Amino acid sequence: MRSRRDVDVPTLVESARSGAPRAVARLISLVENADPALRDVMAALAPHTGRAWIIGLTGSPGVGKSTTTTMLVRAFRERGLRVGVLAVDPTSPFSGGALLGDRIRMGDHVLDPEVYIRSMATRGHLGGLAWATPQALRVLDGAGCDVIVVETVGVGQSEIEIAALADTTVVLLAPGMGDGVQAAKAGILEVGDVFVVNKADRDGADATVRELRHMISLGDRTEPGLWRPPVVKTMADRGEGADEALEGLDKHWARLQETGELRERRARRAAREVEAIVLARLRSRMGDLSRGSSLPEVADQVVEGTLDPYTAADRVLTELT
Ligand code: GDP
Repeated sequence: MRSRRDVDVPTLVESARSGAPRAVARLISLVENADPALRDVMAALAPHTGRAWIIGLTGSPGVGKSTTTTMLVRAFRERGLRVGVLAVDPTSPFSGGALLGDRIRMGDHVLDPEVYIRSMATRGHLGGLAWATPQALRVLDGAGCDVIVVETVGVGQSEIEIAALADTTVVLLAPGMGDGVQAAKAGILEVGDVFVVNKADRDGADATVRELRHMISLGDRTEPGLWRPPVVKTMADRGEGADEALEGLDKHWARLQETGELRERRARRAAREVEAIVLARLRSRMGDLSRGSSLPEVADQVVEGTLDPYTAADRVLTELT
């Protein structure tokens, strides 16, 4: 791992801010590697962040996330916006190969200097999604992206986590597969700000839309004045439904700003981000403890029955902080 000395942080951040793709890529690699230079990077970026609209996109494998992202990127580019795409895979460990895969999938935009595409695998990372993703988002935000699409595979808790990171969360479903019911089970209904039923060319799309609308109407967001998530149909591979999807997204963005919810969501996000750093640091100090000082010793005492585990934990905590 590179040491802090090897990274010329001011120059790197300056290049990233001016939009140099290699500098942006290098900064995200620092995030992936949990490089000690990150501390200085984040300090240098902090005054330049907070501009980007972060859109989380989640859904089961094969539902059309990558295709939909491409469709959205095209639409945002037509508006002249600088766009970032962060594909987060919580199921695979770090691998350089994923980046290439995404570049191929996002073929349309590879050569566009106003589009940054990056994939990141977070399994096995300290703190995983919660630690690395917000920092990668900060890099893209600081690099002047107006919109960032964070794409993640909907498995386990990841959709809930991505919703906590995004300003606007898009839940992608496809007809059949009983996806609507799955959505309710997974708690996706609560986190989606916009629902997109992709593969609308397939049988059952209207039924899925109806089912979703029905379930949303049964939820706790039916009071007047509360945001009612729109449900739109798309055929992402043909670019159809892009306007409707964009309309839903724009309305939600406007709404976030009008109501002050944007600020609230971002404050919650920042709190989680700080928490993730605190936990990662505690975990790393725990590692030092188990090698060095008191943890093995108190563990022995717990075995002997001369110390109870709570008092042992108190001692370790005192030593950690
Ligand atoms: P992801 O795994 O969720 O990222 O899904 P992909 O974007 O890779 O799409 C999975 C497959 O579905 C690909 O073969 C796409 O071409 C296809 N696909 C995407 N959108 C549509 C659509 O609207 N209709 C149909 N029939 N296929 C689609």
